[in-house]
Amino acid sequence: MIPYVKSKLKTFVGGIHPREDGKHLTRDTKEIAAPLPKTVYLLMNQHIGAPCKPIVKKGDFVKKGQLVGESQGFVSANIHASISGKVLDVAPWPHPVTGTKSPAVIIERADDDSWIEGADVPFDPDQITPDQIRQLVQSAGIVGLGGATFPTHVKLTPPRDKTIDTVVMNGAECEPYLTCDYRLMLDKPHEIIQGLKLVMKCIGCKNAHIGIEANKEDVYALFKSIVSDEPNIKVDLLEVKYPQGAEHQLIKALLHREFKPKQLPLEVGAIVINVATAFSIYEAVRFKRPLIQRIITVTGDGVEKPQNFLVRLGTPVKSLLEEAMASPHINKIIFGGPMMGIAQSNRDTAVTVKGTGGILALRSAQQFRSRACIRCGRCIEHCPYGLNPGELSIQSEAQEFNLAQENNVMECKECGCCTYICPAKRPIVHLIKFAKVEIAKQTAKKAASAG
Ligand code: SF4
Ligand code: SF4
Repeated sequence: MIPYVKSKLKTFVGGIHPREDGKHLTRDTKEIAAPLPKTVYLLMNQHIGAPCKPIVKKGDFVKKGQLVGESQGFVSANIHASISGKVLDVAPWPHPVTGTKSPAVIIERADDDSWIEGADVPFDPDQITPDQIRQLVQSAGIVGLGGATFPTHVKLTPPRDKTIDTVVMNGAECEPYLTCDYRLMLDKPHEIIQGLKLVMKCIGCKNAHIGIEANKEDVYALFKSIVSDEPNIKVDLLEVKYPQGAEHQLIKALLHREFKPKQLPLEVGAIVINVATAFSIYEAVRFKRPLIQRIITVTGDGVEKPQNFLVRLGTPVKSLLEEAMASPHINKIIFGGPMMGIAQSNRDTAVTVKGTGGILALRSAQQFRSRACIRCGRCIEHCPYGLNPGELSIQSEAQEFNLAQENNVMECKECGCCTYICPAKRPIVHLIKFAKVEIAKQTAKKAASAG
């Protein structure tokens, strides 16, 4: 191990140190391929932006890697068949993130698991041009796999008037319980670095900075040794703190750059790529493989065998829970980690999407009684975005949405630090989300009446 001084670890102001990190449950489980599902449910909106349009119909036979959902517009990302088989239906299916039904291509698996012709073909990335990289990433349907699901080709196309001088790679994995990125970094470090270099080449950026939390010293040592001859790629250890892996916090910690309200990373000269996204970029360019699978941590006290699975997109969560030997006494299923994850109302219909990094199964979901705000100010102290979460929650309760907007409610990234730290157990994030939805409705109404 490389020795480090705790007080010298890089970090940001605010945030929290969660009591339970839960990573010990799966950190030593090398990912195994989950059994191929009998049926996959490929939702057409697995990304931020316009949903895809299904381009296959009931009864069609599709091959693994075949385009089944075509992106609509620039901010959108293609969807490919994650298994070969017959299209059973193209029909609405419950979405695990939005909670509403969305169009899905439902495929029943055939025995053949070979790729469609043209995919899985080795390609020499040394000869590739920046435009070709962008094009391959776009056609592969790659999105931010850290959970943001923003289409990656859009990130690789910064406006002409913006100069990006550093690509920041996120190896923090600060969300408690999740170890999918940790396992990937240990198992595929060279491929991840190649993916990072492809991003640098694509946007013409000479420098990169990789941030890894101090609870992954083995990964830090590994990455340090891989880039030891490359002075333009720095690797740094970060304090173990949530949300250390959020884009703004990572840039503040590694590059010491500050943000004005509403500023995006590219406005301070950086873009942030998650390690799993970098790996997918490598796969798309080096082998022309579309994004059809990812590593998912299945964990929590509701499963007897917590572990990391390599999972085809659209796999029913029920089958993953069975593989992890789920207890019959599960009370709650969360997509993602405990801080930013989304509770599932129906585990029978829940299926994996591109942004699913973890499935947390809990036997004893805690229930809290919320009380009035006691104005202790702890939420302000811990909000990494400098907001006044308590005040915003009160304004939302009072339906004073204009006031909440003036106080930058739309800047909230829903990290959950305020709810976690609040002694009155106020549902602050829930109230903030409510205010954001109402403000978005009012804005749409105004735009409709003006147009
Ligand atoms: S932490 Fe909770 S009780 Fe304290 S000011 Fe914020 S909302 Fe109020
Ligand atoms: S107000 Fe939003 S950004 Fe700030 S701590 Fe709460 S959830 Fe996080």
